[in-house]
Amino acid sequence: ELPGFDYQPKPYKGPLADEVLQKRKKYLGPSLFYYYQKPLNIVEGKMQYLYDESGRRYLDAFAGIVTVSCGHCHPDILDAITEQNNLLQHATTIYLHHAIADFAEALASKMPGNLKVVFFVNSGTEANELAMLMARLYSGNLGMIALRNAYHGGSSNTIGLTALNTWKYPIPQGEIHHVLNPNPYRGVFGSDARCYAEDVQDHIDHGTSGKVAGFIAETIQGVGGAVELAPGYLKLVYDMVHKAGGVCIADEVQTGFGRTGSHYWGFETQGVIPDIVTMAKGIGNGLPLGAVVTTPEIASVLAQKIQFNTFGGNPVCSAGGLAVLRVLDKEQRQKHSAKVGSHMIQRLNDLQKKHDIIGDVRGRGLMVGVELVTDRKEKTPAKAETGVLFEKLRELGVLVGKGGLHGNVFRIKPPMCFTKDDADFLVDALDYAMSKL
Ligand code: PMP
Repeated sequence: ELPGFDYQPKPYKGPLADEVLQKRKKYLGPSLFYYYQKPLNIVEGKMQYLYDESGRRYLDAFAGIVTVSCGHCHPDILDAITEQNNLLQHATTIYLHHAIADFAEALASKMPGNLKVVFFVNSGTEANELAMLMARLYSGNLGMIALRNAYHGGSSNTIGLTALNTWKYPIPQGEIHHVLNPNPYRGVFGSDARCYAEDVQDHIDHGTSGKVAGFIAETIQGVGGAVELAPGYLKLVYDMVHKAGGVCIADEVQTGFGRTGSHYWGFETQGVIPDIVTMAKGIGNGLPLGAVVTTPEIASVLAQKIQFNTFGGNPVCSAGGLAVLRVLDKEQRQKHSAKVGSHMIQRLNDLQKKHDIIGDVRGRGLMVGVELVTDRKEKTPAKAETGVLFEKLRELGVLVGKGGLHGNVFRIKPPMCFTKDDADFLVDALDYAMSKL
């Protein structure tokens, strides 16, 4: 039984899964994956729970896709959106509107150093597009360095930065250099940041003119399977990239807003301050919103032309985003993520002693990865078993994400209102499912 929650979902009278699936297949374009064998028709959400068409409740340990930072339909955020919705939904960013300015001010106050200029966009992909454009204009160079196993978006340019085979189409990607992934579990150099950083220097020295536009990395890789970069890596690489005339971009699309527990931003876990920070997902608790934050100096490169975005930072999204920042502070979600996350990681570490299939437990706060292997020594990805366990967890009422190059990593990144009881339920469900394998 799921932990108690007295919310009653509204009776659902809409179309059922089969009908939705047929329409989706007919009208929504091909997709390589439907997440579950028997598609899940989600019709309502409340905080860390989702409800299907029959009113069945699920623990959402994936937060949408690491998106719902505060909880589904959080009352404070709903109030803020509704109030703005009733006044003005859209007036283009050509006019003045206080919501966008208030939100930008609040966001800038969360940033360290000189990171004080905000651009609003509509998604993580767009944020990374804009960051890449700025890096190229500012440096006067084209070459971008990104990590293998990275996900930075699916548009023509950002798909070039992405380095996960399942997402890549064979299109020209131009001047993008993918360096070794400093993954302590699977990487060739273990946790030795210096060796991985040498690979970056090698690319700069031999793959470019010696000058680059920039370097981009998720501070903990998300789609790639909650991979924390070898400690000290970003510090070494940021120095190299700066010396080569480039700017350093931190992709905080999944890691920002206190999710790591120990810090508000993922880059702080590596003790660096980037030149450009991109964000989306958790910034809007599910609203389509993204942002790029940079220094006045770098931002000024865009002043040569018009940099304009029709919807980015529209009044409703801005009001929602501002409410998100306030809720995270008011409810002390960063501290909460640290507490619940370390309890969950501890319990997962104990579970690893019991089940050989768990090759690695990693992460921070509520950004956790469990990598499954059929052979611990060889680290052989347990692809089929991951699929079976994934379906079993759904049966037990727990939704997690899947990721990693081989699809063998459970990604546990719930809304930050996730409780210790929820974490216990999830680990118990995993334990039960694994014992039935
Ligand atoms: N960066 C990271 C780290 C992501 O995880 C994602 C989405 N999974 C993106 C960028 C792209 O964001 P969006 O899907 O909002 O375009």
